[in-house]
Amino acid sequence: MARLIESVVGHAVEIKHLIQLRESGRWPHALLFAGPSGTGKRKIALAFAQILVCDNADRDPQGLACGVCGPCLRVQKEQSESLLFLKPDEKAARPAIKVEAVRELLDSLSLASLGKARIVIVDNAQIMNPQASNALLKTLEEPFENVYFILICEDLGQLLPTIRSRVQVVKFSALSFEEIQIVKPGKPDWAYRSSRGQIDRLELLASPEGTQKREEALTLFEQFCADEEFLMASEWRASIKDRTWAQFNVTCWLQIIRDLVILKTQANKFILNTDQIERLKKLFQIQSKKLLWLADQLVFAERDIQGNSDPVLVFEDLWVRYARK
Ligand SMILES: [Zn+2]
Repeated sequence: MARLIESVVGHAVEIKHLIQLRESGRWPHALLFAGPSGTGKRKIALAFAQILVCDNADRDPQGLACGVCGPCLRVQKEQSESLLFLKPDEKAARPAIKVEAVRELLDSLSLASLGKARIVIVDNAQIMNPQASNALLKTLEEPFENVYFILICEDLGQLLPTIRSRVQVVKFSALSFEEIQIVKPGKPDWAYRSSRGQIDRLELLASPEGTQKREEALTLFEQFCADEEFLMASEWRASIKDRTWAQFNVTCWLQIIRDLVILKTQANKFILNTDQIERLKKLFQIQSKKLLWLADQLVFAERDIQGNSDPVLVFEDLWVRYARK
C-alpha cells in the first residue's frame, strides 16, 4: 500500500508543475517526459497514473493519490485495466516499437470506455519506428476521451517533429550526487561520481561486469596513449568489439580525460575516478592540448559507434590520428 509519488526522489519542481496541471484541470492528453535515462521518469509516470485513477485524489488536500483504494493498488502492481503500455517488439534485432503494437493499443482503447481515466505509457518512445509514430500521431491529433498518453524519452531530438508538436514536454535533469545516494545506497564513491546522476549507469558501473569493464577501459586508455605498437596488439579489440561496451568505453575515457585535466589544476575534490588517482597521475605527461583533442574526437567516435560503424575500426582510426598529433 503506497502512494507511488512518495517513492520518487528529486524532481520537486517538475512534480509540483504536474500536480498543478491536474488540479487546474489542464492535464494534457499527451505529455512527454524528456531527460537522461535512469532518473525516475517512468516511476513518476506511474505515480501520476495512480493520481489520475485514484478514487480519492479529488478529496486529497494536496491532490495526491490515496495509495490504498483498489485503482491505486492495481496501478502500483502494474495490473490495472486503466494502465496500458506501448511495448517494443521483443523479436526485433534492435529494440523497436512497431505499428502492430500501436494498432493493438488503439483497438483496445476504442473499446467501450470504463468511464475512468486510462493512461498509456510509452517508455523509450524514441524506438517507435516511423510507421508506429505516424499511427500514434493520428491518435494524438484526435485524442480519445479520458485517455492520457505519457511518452518517455531521453532526448527530444529522437522523436519525429510531428510528434513533438503534439505533446506537452516536461524536462527532467539527472539526479544530484546526494539524491542518487538516497535512491541506491551502499555503492562505491567512484561509482556515484561517475554515474552522471543516472541510476541505470550507477547499477552498471557497480555491477561485477561493469567494474571489470571500467578497469579494462583504463588499461586500454593507458595502452592507447603510451604504446607505439597499439595497432599490433590484439587483446584490446575483444573488449570493445561489442557496440554497447565500446560506448561504455568512450564514456569511461571521457571521464578519465576530465579527471586528468582536473588533476593538472589540482582541484582534486572534483575527481570522478577517486579510486584510480595513482594510475591517473602516471598519465600526467600527456599534454592537455592532446587530451582535449582526444575528448573532442571521442564525441564523434561515440556518434559513429551509435550509428553503424565497426567499433574496432573507429578506435583504430582514432589511434592513427592521435599518434600523428
Ligand atoms: Zn486511491
